[in-house]
Amino acid sequence: TLQGKTAIITGSNSGIGLGIARELAKAGADVVLNSFTDRDEDHALAAQIAEEFGVTARYIKADMSKGDECRALIEKAGGCDILVNNAGIQHVAPIDQFPVEKWDAIIAINMNSAFHTMAAALPSMRERGWGRIVNIASAHGLTASPYKAAYIAAKHGVVGMTKTVALETAEEPITCNAICPGYVLTPLVEAQIPDTMKEYNMSREDVVKNVMLKRQPSKEFATVEQMGGTTVFLCSDAAAQITGTTISVDGGWTAL
Ligand code: NAD
Repeated sequence: TLQGKTAIITGSNSGIGLGIARELAKAGADVVLNSFTDRDEDHALAAQIAEEFGVTARYIKADMSKGDECRALIEKAGGCDILVNNAGIQHVAPIDQFPVEKWDAIIAINMNSAFHTMAAALPSMRERGWGRIVNIASAHGLTASPYKAAYIAAKHGVVGMTKTVALETAEEPITCNAICPGYVLTPLVEAQIPDTMKEYNMSREDVVKNVMLKRQPSKEFATVEQMGGTTVFLCSDAAAQITGTTISVDGGWTAL
């Protein structure tokens, strides 16, 4: 059980981040949710988790594209035992047409934020004498596809940073690993299905299996609960000697 541990999950008002926050709370951890908005719905998500799992849950606004806000998030939370770097965005374009502002935003949110949050959180983990860092990379942290230069550069960067921090903390009771999801069924992905069905004049099943999951040999989406479960495992005693590595949750994508 993770009772008494505090987990900060960046980018957790939807999708994988929210799924991870819920599984960590289910395992007993107090959680800090985050995104760049400050709406009633954001705070309501934290209240719902607190009520459902009987833990403390807070929502703290911070824009992960800004280094000082990344560091302020950790400070406002009062440090943490578990840090999950999950915030991320995507943009798809050939490199010679890739908008510079999209490049900068993806590198900032998907990669630089992890530098700032890890730098700010590590001293608090050392004080507590225990720490777990879980970086949400991607199958695209290990392999490539065309038109995703910024995302793939950032995710490969996260994997490299993960290994480095693991070596820097290797003799301490702190681990640092990355989860590499394949295609995960989030509301965002779900919303693309009807349009793609129309575009290709295909059934839902065909769109999912032959368009979206073309590169995922299992032909099944991974789920946000599975990302949460993998995170909880990395926080368990069984995973205490797992550090500096990646766990693929991708239905066989990277085995191809
Ligand atoms: P999502 O859009 O549902 O979630 C992204 C989260 O990041 C949201 O909570 C969003 O509010 C937050 N966010 C975006 N910009 C931010 C900013 N500037 N500051 C703070 N928070 C910000 O998408 P998701 O699919 O849940 O993605 C979560 C992570 O998982 C990302 O890092 C993504 O690259 C990674 N991932 C997703 C998939 C997939 O198939 N869905 C596959 C591999 C990796």
